[in-house]
Amino acid sequence: MHDVVVIGGGCIGSATALQLQRAQPGIDVVVIEPDPTYATAATMRATGGVRQLFTRQENIALSQYTLDVIHDWACFLGLSEEAPDLDWTPNGYLFIAPRETTKTLEQNYAVQTSLGVAAEWLDLPELAARFPQLETNDLGPAVLSPHDGWLDPHAFLKGTRQAAQRRGVAYLTDRVTELSTAGPRVTGVTLASGKALTADSFVDAAGVAAPKLAAQAGMPLPVEPMPRHEHYVDAPGDYTELPFIKDPDGLAVRPEGSGLAVGLVDFDRPASVDLPADHGYFDHHVWPALAHRIPGLDSLRLRRTWSGHYDQNRLDGNMIIGNWPGHVENFFVASGFSGHGLMHSPGVGRALAELIVHGKYRTIDLTAMGYQRVPDDKPYPELGVR
Ligand SMILES: Cc1cc2nc3c(=O)[nH]c(=O)nc-3n(C[C@H](O)[C@H](O)[C@H](O)COP(=O)(O)OP(=O)(O)OC[C@H]3O[C@@H](n4cnc5c(N)ncnc54)[C@H](O)[C@@H]3O)c2cc1C
Repeated sequence: MHDVVVIGGGCIGSATALQLQRAQPGIDVVVIEPDPTYATAATMRATGGVRQLFTRQENIALSQYTLDVIHDWACFLGLSEEAPDLDWTPNGYLFIAPRETTKTLEQNYAVQTSLGVAAEWLDLPELAARFPQLETNDLGPAVLSPHDGWLDPHAFLKGTRQAAQRRGVAYLTDRVTELSTAGPRVTGVTLASGKALTADSFVDAAGVAAPKLAAQAGMPLPVEPMPRHEHYVDAPGDYTELPFIKDPDGLAVRPEGSGLAVGLVDFDRPASVDLPADHGYFDHHVWPALAHRIPGLDSLRLRRTWSGHYDQNRLDGNMIIGNWPGHVENFFVASGFSGHGLMHSPGVGRALAELIVHGKYRTIDLTAMGYQRVPDDKPYPELGVR
């Protein structure tokens, strides 16, 4: 009988395992992960962005904690020697609003600065002067968060997983196929190998597979696998100083090496567990949007396209975290990250560790992001920005 079985060893499962060990050294934690290469895990497909530009205080606080972790990375991992290089690039994040939603941007900016985000308000002339590469004629003002940036997801996961293992967490190469339940408790898991494990607590961190398992535990989730394409382009000119830019058309672009990483999120894309081919999406949608926003990019070379899944929460686009008190006591979900999971993984792991070890949140209170809002049908969305 283990103390905790964590289902899925991506950034969320591995951060949870590490934070459990930090909260209670010696706790018996086993992580079940079928693919140690993480070939299809969302973590390895992420762009690596870390931003404080949210509107819900929980998301802002989680990102602020991640920035602390990044700045104190070796110490977080419990290492005195060098930690895996995160390739942290603090070029900032730039959110640009269309003119008609300036009021929302203003309200969000007020929330962000009140919570200690060192964000800068840029009126249109300032925006145009600061970032002359951008087409600004169709834009309203923008908010720049200069201390945000992006990191290497592979190094982030590798460091976290290795630190968990060094502290005694076991990783089992296997897949959970079934849960056993008794009343309001999950009692065990059956694995593809035929093995069965029992534990006091279970964490469902299986990424896009999480809803299927949660449903077995009696916690159906409004979360779907939403395919996403990301592109790497070689671009003429020097864009290395640009921040991570999100524009009103849904374009997300940042420097990558001597080129750019670019994506255009289509939140209306139908759910699919497969990753459909790009089928001209870059040529017909992404490139025109990019060439419009950065006119120098009407000539570029597409080098690579990669695809992954968002575990998209169709209720409100925010994570669903924790158990369901009174209904499902010892099964803790961590799902619905909707494109923010990498940047929030250290705090999500800490929150789950607090719930499991202490029975309540001790640092960031994530009650509003809990499961109860699903049966209550009470969305808790970000305002204006996704
Ligand atoms: C293109 C793209 C860009 C993104 N950009 C960003 C970004 O800039 N910033 C950001 O914060 N987030 C970003 N994200 C989102 C981020 O990648 C995810 O939110 C995050 O990786 C989710 O981590 P996870 O551990 O929950 O899932 P995963 O990384 O998918 O890990 C889940 C693991 O569970 C395992 N598993 C599945 N089924 C089972 C089972 N039955 N038993 C045991 N294990 C199982 C899988 O093998 C997998 O390794 C992006 C995502 C994509 C696709």
